[in-house]
Amino acid sequence: MDTMRNGFKILPTLLVLLLLLACLETETACGLREDLSGYNEEVYARERARMVEFQIKARGVKDPCVIEAMLAVPRHLFVPERRRIHSYEDRPLPIGSGQTISQPYIVALMTELLELNENDTVLEVGTGSGYQAAVLAEIAKKVYSIEIKEELGLQAKERLKAVGYTNVDVHIGDGYDGLPDDAPFDAIIVTAAAPHIPEPLIEQLRPGGRMVIPVGTRFWGQELVLITKKEDGGIREETIIPVLFVPLLREK
Ligand code: SAH
Repeated sequence: MDTMRNGFKILPTLLVLLLLLACLETETACGLREDLSGYNEEVYARERARMVEFQIKARGVKDPCVIEAMLAVPRHLFVPERRRIHSYEDRPLPIGSGQTISQPYIVALMTELLELNENDTVLEVGTGSGYQAAVLAEIAKKVYSIEIKEELGLQAKERLKAVGYTNVDVHIGDGYDGLPDDAPFDAIIVTAAAPHIPEPLIEQLRPGGRMVIPVGTRFWGQELVLITKKEDGGIREETIIPVLFVPLLREK
């Protein structure tokens, strides 16, 4: 009789446990599922327009080229498939290998700070998904992007090609050293936080050029810094806002 009663008590507990396990296993019923029914290019374009309106323009980004670029780049194609429905949300997203694609506003803000024009050559350190590179490629003439993690770099290279960007060169390596063979650059953007501003990058910036870089550590805090190289080679540094980026890694 006691065993029977215990059996009845155990059954619902077991069912709940099984349900929880199923959730953990597939992440489906827990909200991360890629339910693409009802999602098509038109829906994504509408979400993108809302993103630009409420996350980017509303926060003060004004450069028409940046706004056009943010409207043009299909961010959902740079996000892992199972997170695609979250592509246009106001936050960074994991892209694998412990890395993240930045929040759309930060991408727009950093791009605006570079004051790019159509004849510019830009260096990006930290290709990641390739999304920031695509935004830069919408505005500038040529983008060089370096990624330290081979797997991410190769995927981004393929992705950028598939989406149709022909003016982006992806290199695998340690971006701390920049790309001396292709320097000088009109603008440099670093999308991982460095404890200090890498000297080779300052050297590879053209006089009159601009560099935007998160400086600091997760523990002590990071700030987005805008560096302007004056015509006489001198440097001007301006702190923009506090940020949170993955760390700039080193090869050696
Ligand atoms: N710009 C990316 C997001 C960057 S996340 C996007 O739009 O998706 C930061 C990236 O910098 C990661 O992919 C990380 O692997 C890379 N990274 C970190 N240290 C690096 C280094 N020293 N050189 C090049 N890439 C680096």
